[in-house]
Amino acid sequence: MSADGGPRRLLIRDLAQLATPAGRGAPLRGVELGRVDVLEDAFLLCDDGVVAGVGRMHDLEPLAGDVDELDGRGLCAVPGLVDCHTHACFAGDRVEEFALRASGATYEELHASGGGIMSTVRATRAAGGEELVRAVRRHGRWMLRAGTTTFEAKSGYGLDLETELASLQAIREGGGVATWLGAHALPPEFDDADAYLDFALREVLPRAAELAEAADVFVERGAFDVAQARRYLEACRGAGLALRLHGDQFTEQGAVELAIELGARSVDHLEATGDRGVSQLADSAVVGVLLPASALFLGRPMPPARALVAAGAAVALATDFNPGSAFCESLPLVCSLAATQLQLSPAEALTACTVNAAHVLGRADRLGRLAQGYAADVVLLNAPDWRYLAYHLGGDVVSQVVVAGVPVELP
Ligand SMILES: [Zn+2]
Repeated sequence: MSADGGPRRLLIRDLAQLATPAGRGAPLRGVELGRVDVLEDAFLLCDDGVVAGVGRMHDLEPLAGDVDELDGRGLCAVPGLVDCHTHACFAGDRVEEFALRASGATYEELHASGGGIMSTVRATRAAGGEELVRAVRRHGRWMLRAGTTTFEAKSGYGLDLETELASLQAIREGGGVATWLGAHALPPEFDDADAYLDFALREVLPRAAELAEAADVFVERGAFDVAQARRYLEACRGAGLALRLHGDQFTEQGAVELAIELGARSVDHLEATGDRGVSQLADSAVVGVLLPASALFLGRPMPPARALVAAGAAVALATDFNPGSAFCESLPLVCSLAATQLQLSPAEALTACTVNAAHVLGRADRLGRLAQGYAADVVLLNAPDWRYLAYHLGGDVVSQVVVAGVPVELP
């Protein structure tokens, strides 16, 4: 509300360009993925947190009453970016492991030096709930500075009742969309994955389901197999959670088929997905979430993005922000990787990290477009052309962020 008690209005005027995924549906696939509407010399009117209108400056009619103005000269507007896959709730770091890996250490050597997911589990268990809230808020500020106005974050570094619940609570308090990654890895106090799942589904799920919107599982050799993932996900679905899977990161274990069978929202990673998985995804409603920063960070092959889009699969882009395999919170950098490594156009990349990512989070009706009725979450790019979002590799492209119609101070 404004000082006079009326709805708060903001006019962003004289924008060099305004770019938004075309149409209204979600998720966008095939040629639709690359359809972005671009207005030159544009304005965007926000009213009470929602987009009230967009258009060309010469079509802007005089506005009655109080309106705050933001000068958009030399800037381009795109929708607030949506990061639909992060592990932003963790304590400690893995910089030692990173440095060892960079100088050629083997997996066994990293493990012997105390690296891997379990080192983050130890640090996260040792942190209190307040420290986890501070960590999520800090990571959320990093993301905001890179233009992310909505982020999902997963638990999965607790793997015990207390820390999993504290993680989900911290994600919510830190402004994230919470996903219970109860099946991330086998914690040290269990030597059998089925016994761990017995515990997690009996003790943790009933309370995690009150805090999280979705459940996620790491389907991989050495993590959880398809039978275990099915048991976990069916129980989570029964508790009202939407379903996500980490699948085909290193090897194809059947995660794509399972995602389709169970009606999951997404299957994420797909670096190892072959032709069969590509065509199965294309015939399904499951979104393939691509994480090129993770593939880059680990020096792994990139996912078959072009083949997925050509076959008609719905894809989204996300950072996979985490301390071990993708210490990267920047969706603009992910868009650059999409354009340079995945052969996606800047337009396809924009749709993939806005409306399609919002669909993965069940929010495509209100997030991911600059169109009437959508949330007034806006990124103003310090660029004469909106495609600098992908073009300016590692650049400082974000000039200003507006959340729910209010310009925010970038931390
Ligand atoms: Zn992940």
